[in-house]
Amino acid sequence: MTNVNSRRPPPSDPRGPDDQQILVLDHAPETAVADLSSLYKLLVESVRDYAIFALDATGHIITWNPGAARFKGYTAQEIIGQHFSIFYPPEDQAARKPEKELEIAIAEGRVEDEGWRVRKDGSRFWANVVITALRNPDGRLVGFAKVTRDLSERRQAEEILRLSEERFRLLIQGVRDYGIFMLDTGGHVASWNEGAERINGYTTQEILGQHFSIFYPPEALARRQPAYELEVAARDGSFEDEGWRLRKDGSRFWSNVIITAMRDATGTLIGFSKVTRDLTERRAAHERAIEDARRIAEAEAANRTKSAFLASMSHELRTPLNAIGGYADLLLFGVAGDLIAEQREYLDRLRRSQQHLLGIINDLLNFSRIEAGRITYDMKPMFLGRAIRAVLPMIEPQARQRELDVRVVETADYEVVADSTKVEQILLNLLSNSIKFTDRGGTIVIEQFSVDGFAGVRVTDTGIGIPEDKLESIFEPFVQVGRTLTTGHEGTGLGLAISRDLARAMNGDLTVRSRIEKGSVFELAFKKD
Ligand code: ADP
Repeated sequence: MTNVNSRRPPPSDPRGPDDQQILVLDHAPETAVADLSSLYKLLVESVRDYAIFALDATGHIITWNPGAARFKGYTAQEIIGQHFSIFYPPEDQAARKPEKELEIAIAEGRVEDEGWRVRKDGSRFWANVVITALRNPDGRLVGFAKVTRDLSERRQAEEILRLSEERFRLLIQGVRDYGIFMLDTGGHVASWNEGAERINGYTTQEILGQHFSIFYPPEALARRQPAYELEVAARDGSFEDEGWRLRKDGSRFWSNVIITAMRDATGTLIGFSKVTRDLTERRAAHERAIEDARRIAEAEAANRTKSAFLASMSHELRTPLNAIGGYADLLLFGVAGDLIAEQREYLDRLRRSQQHLLGIINDLLNFSRIEAGRITYDMKPMFLGRAIRAVLPMIEPQARQRELDVRVVETADYEVVADSTKVEQILLNLLSNSIKFTDRGGTIVIEQFSVDGFAGVRVTDTGIGIPEDKLESIFEPFVQVGRTLTTGHEGTGLGLAISRDLARAMNGDLTVRSRIEKGSVFELAFKKD
């Protein structure tokens, strides 16, 4: 029938046929039986992925194939005649595993095993082994056929998988910020991690097997929340919720929960994973933020009420004060008849006090208007020199009275964008302060300066100066340095607060440098046109 011819190395070559081996089959019926046995031999010898060899009835090796040579490392000469226990690790030899396997094969016809085997070089490989008892037609045992497969690669892949699963398990186990655990399909806790223990308070032993409804407060149980969550997760794939949950000690925590349905390859539901996060702190922070916002809103409302009160009060006060001033003027002008010197002097004092009071009330009114954002600004290009010239006459009498030398340095005149009336108001305040806080005989210098797209007016005095730690607070309302009830200068402590607010509202700024007993430098600057 078939004739097999092969170009293969002689049988003594333990490496056996190589991969390029060519099998030629001819029709030759007369040699069928002989050829069939050589065909089997050839088949066995060409198999490289399996070690296929025969043992005699006592377990000694009598044949060897290339597959065996390949992954056991022995040549045919080396191994034939040896007992097959040579392939077993010492612990298996000590346990008589090889002999036991033969006994089973004799009793049951075959034995299959997976386990470590040893190569010639001592290294181990993971093998699948099938030993079959060989009997002659009378049933007498003549030996064993042994087929071994090297599963090292599969084993390695399995080991890698096992390790990565183990690592993943440990990772989940160690997560502290999230409770991560499994539920079976009925909702019973099937695994538990450190985070879950921290958040819920139960140890693994305590909670495994318990129904997860134990985490829900009574009102959630009453509306069947746990069952509902599993139903939704099973139906939609996952369920997310935020709500109150119970700790072991009965206390509540606000949590975010995600339940995800887990299905096997066939789509059958095998359980649920549950990730829980304790949001109590976040919720508290959120509530604190709301509370803060409410307090700020209340404070602002109170502030607005205060500003409105100041505005209406100052307005009400100004009307009678103007009347006082007006009638004092009429008397002084002699409208009601001649005045004797003493009367004139008293009226003068009346007038000065009235003016002073009016100044204070104007400050209050201004300040409350700024606070209430009720000031409008007429922003236009303006020359600073003009503002200086407009203010000078207003402060000259005071300066002369205190014998102060007021000098205006006129080297440059800059054009800035600002509301000129407000700039004059600020300058007046700065100059009045310099006069107030500079001792008799001192000097006040007014000059213009320019820096980085800004230009402004600098007022330098040789006055009492301002302590370092008060340089900022003087810009706060009602702050006056060293003022006591009995001593001190006139004023409300509102001038600088108003001035800086106005300057900043016009995209400018008002700053100060000062040295105690040496004097102060105020700089008012605006954007150049
Ligand atoms: P007021 O002048 O009405 O007291 P201000 O707001 O104008 O209010 O000034 C606040 C405080 O700043 C003053 O009371 C004073 O202590 C200090 N101050 C302002 N200008 C000067 C200055 N040129 N020299 C020294 N101290 C000053």
